[in-house]
Amino acid sequence: MSVISNKSEVSSISEKLVYHFGGEISEGGTHLKNLLGGKGAGLSEMATLGIPVPPGFTITTEVCNAFYELEGIFPSSLKKQVEDAINLIENTVGSNFGDSDNPLLVSVRSGARVSMPGMMDTILNLGLNDDTASGLAKRSGNDRFAYDSYRRFVQMYGDVVLNIGKDDETDEDPFEALLEAKKSSLGLINDTDLDGESLKELVFEYKDLIRSKGGEFPEDPWEQLWGAIGAVFESWQNPRAVIYRNQYGYSDHWGTAVNVQAMVFGNLGEDCATGVLFTRNPSTGSNDLFGEFLVNAQGEDVVAGIRTPQPISSSPGEKNSESLEVYMPKIYQELLSACENLENHFGDMQDIEFTIQQDKLWILQTRNGKRSGLASLRIAVELVNEGLISKGEAINQIDAEQLNELLHPVFDPQFKKDVIAHGMAASPGAAVGRVVFTPRDVSNWVNRGESVILVRSETSPEDIEGMVGAAGILTARGGMTSHAAVVARGMGKCCVTGCANLEIDFANKQMKIVGSSSTEIIVNEGEIISLDGNTGEVILGEVATLEGEFPPEFDEIMSWVDDLRRLNIRANADTPEDAQKARAFGAEGIGLCRTEHMFFGSDRISAVRQMILANDSESRNAALKIILPIQRDDFIGILNAMSPYPVTIRLLDPPLHEFLPTKQSEMEELAAVLKLPVEDIERRVDSLREQNPMLGHRGVRLAMTFPEIYDIQVQAIIEAACTLSEQNVTVYPEIMIPLVGLAEELRIARERVVMVAESVIKEKGIEIEYSIGTMIELPRACVVADEIAQYADFFSFGTNDLTQTTLGLSRDDASKFLPAYIDNRILANDPFVRLETDGVGKLISLGIERVKLQKPDLKIGICGEHGGDPESINFFEQELFDYISCSPYRVPIARLAAAQAKLASDNLPS
Ligand code: ADP
Ligand code: MG
Ligand code: MG
Repeated sequence: MSVISNKSEVSSISEKLVYHFGGEISEGGTHLKNLLGGKGAGLSEMATLGIPVPPGFTITTEVCNAFYELEGIFPSSLKKQVEDAINLIENTVGSNFGDSDNPLLVSVRSGARVSMPGMMDTILNLGLNDDTASGLAKRSGNDRFAYDSYRRFVQMYGDVVLNIGKDDETDEDPFEALLEAKKSSLGLINDTDLDGESLKELVFEYKDLIRSKGGEFPEDPWEQLWGAIGAVFESWQNPRAVIYRNQYGYSDHWGTAVNVQAMVFGNLGEDCATGVLFTRNPSTGSNDLFGEFLVNAQGEDVVAGIRTPQPISSSPGEKNSESLEVYMPKIYQELLSACENLENHFGDMQDIEFTIQQDKLWILQTRNGKRSGLASLRIAVELVNEGLISKGEAINQIDAEQLNELLHPVFDPQFKKDVIAHGMAASPGAAVGRVVFTPRDVSNWVNRGESVILVRSETSPEDIEGMVGAAGILTARGGMTSHAAVVARGMGKCCVTGCANLEIDFANKQMKIVGSSSTEIIVNEGEIISLDGNTGEVILGEVATLEGEFPPEFDEIMSWVDDLRRLNIRANADTPEDAQKARAFGAEGIGLCRTEHMFFGSDRISAVRQMILANDSESRNAALKIILPIQRDDFIGILNAMSPYPVTIRLLDPPLHEFLPTKQSEMEELAAVLKLPVEDIERRVDSLREQNPMLGHRGVRLAMTFPEIYDIQVQAIIEAACTLSEQNVTVYPEIMIPLVGLAEELRIARERVVMVAESVIKEKGIEIEYSIGTMIELPRACVVADEIAQYADFFSFGTNDLTQTTLGLSRDDASKFLPAYIDNRILANDPFVRLETDGVGKLISLGIERVKLQKPDLKIGICGEHGGDPESINFFEQELFDYISCSPYRVPIARLAAAQAKLASDNLPS
């Protein structure tokens, strides 16, 4: 356990380690989110707004980092600051920490700068021991309350600080087992049915349990407090928090803050409650307050699904007697006005945690609520229409990556489906997969290449890895605010919760759906079900899917985005179909059309092989004549589909051997066509084989040895352009030469392109505008970019190859070690997904700098995978690229991210 250190040891730490909130002074606020964590900053901000927040203080994230630097010791100056801060709470609340007559109880709560729902730990009711518990019982006149709080505290302390909690392997919680045993020995069902006396017994049983595991529950409140603070810091590095951070790309160095806060009690009786709510529907985005609460309960009882929670609002037009609206109308109104206040202040949908103690409302947390991609669009548009935020703020509010969800398939409404159960539509989407019941089984099945649906009673933070792997999540308990629902929405994963007639038999790995007329459907592990996250339906078997559609808000947001962004967005597309799709998504041209895919078509591969294997230029030309009209048709198709936008066509890039036959029968066939002995073919194929083909005879190097190949491609491009031009179709081909490293290569290749193009133009007598450029994908090309630029009209950074060649890393082989590099933080991200800016990015910047000296107007684009990655797009915006190009499906993401990047760069200090 952690102890107070007397050394002042950490290199750099501020003097002020503790910030007060609530009560007399609130020192924090949202502007200090990185230092105080989201929860601490929010508590301070709320207190300043006059929203009722129990008083407390926040220990900064700096202390967390110091704690790790000191290997589990607190910086020495912390002790006094914490003691003073407790003192301040005591004065505000009028009770004393450790006082047996009138004890102050506190919660010790984690809170990082970004919300990580349930990933770290929180301890409630700290300060209780045998003395203070009996004092609390006397003072409140409520034994049940005092010992309910005490047993909760011992349980949480045992779990979080002493590590005697739920076993991740068996999913068994020894404290819960004792609680269940106690209830069943008394024939009770609900926790709330236990009286003070039995809860007191339970406390003793808990303590015995702790002792039997070699631990000791500390009676001294100060020892409790320091133990809890240390444990919350430690929870920053617990495996589920680490997995969560990896999933979202959050840094380990952010650390968590610790909030110590006076307790308010939702478990004091029937005029008390605890609850959570979203100010708008997080699944659909509709402007309806959405939440749940439990009477006479504490903390996470609602989220944990211990009892079935009650709704906060009555449904429109119908008074639900269960709802808070009816049960506590005055509090409900207070809650509504707090929600409005907070939404107005933060300009966003809020996710709020509250407790009601004896008819008084306390707000314990607020944050921008996680929401589905669908909801994020609707909420952003409506907030703008309501005048709460600007269009720019709305754009920044949407997670570009989440637009992906909107493209997720939906179930075909025509499909005749076998609905076996209904739950809550907690997170939209459509998922089909094999049923599994544990996170471990998720990985087992996924490793075999299967899609799975994780079925749980309720999920808990330990399940996070399984949730990441599953295609969808189904739970028997919990509602819209349950852990599963919140996490799934954040991940854009289809989720159905609260499926009441679902029973899981973990031992036999099967689930049972009990129908109304007590019919039973049994589904075993490995059987396929379909989950509809939009309706909450659970369906037996596989339902056919259709492509997803964008909601009406999408077009509105995108029109704002297009007004704002500076970067042009193009798509990588090789076929007219892809080009059409890209245009529908808003692409403004093709940034990369790969011609090699065209060479593999069954109608031409034989001619391609003849061309490659030809012994002399006569038979090579014969083969090329077959290819020419086919290529011309390809180009007519794609130029036409993209008209009037530019299309960048890359001339042949891969090593020739990729096109060669591998099967004996294919070689024989080819030998017959070329009228050559099979042995000759075999020898020729053999001679083309390379040790390192990616660094071999490819790209512009082909043009240095077999110039006829590029000739025929250029002829096909320009002829296609002429044909379309004659039909009044506006075309703008950009001819791109790959893998140039030497200016001389491009000079020679360009000369040849111009010669062929001009002769076609002359022959056809049609004016065609075209340009000639190169891909920059070798480090040398970046370094001598100014020399190369002399012969180029445009540059397109091929960041896939540039990443490979700069890092000396083959994309096809990297999967063997790259994950270890990322897990061990040797690399921050997969460099093929997110541009590695320190090295690859520097080369790009250097190249651009040099080009600007030579040809300030040279058009600059990027056509690697990074063109669709929002983080990398920030870099391209800062380097003032003209366009980015990405796969058609990522075009909407790139448009949004480009607008966000522009907004960010406008706000950079110049
Ligand atoms: P998490 O980050 O997992 O949401 P919290 O720190 O928000 O954890 O604590 C979980 C719950 O515990 C809160 O939603 C609230 O219900 C309860 N809680 C925390 N602090 C207090 C407090 N001072 N008084 C009453 N309840 C509290
Ligand atoms: Mg919380
Ligand atoms: Mg390349």
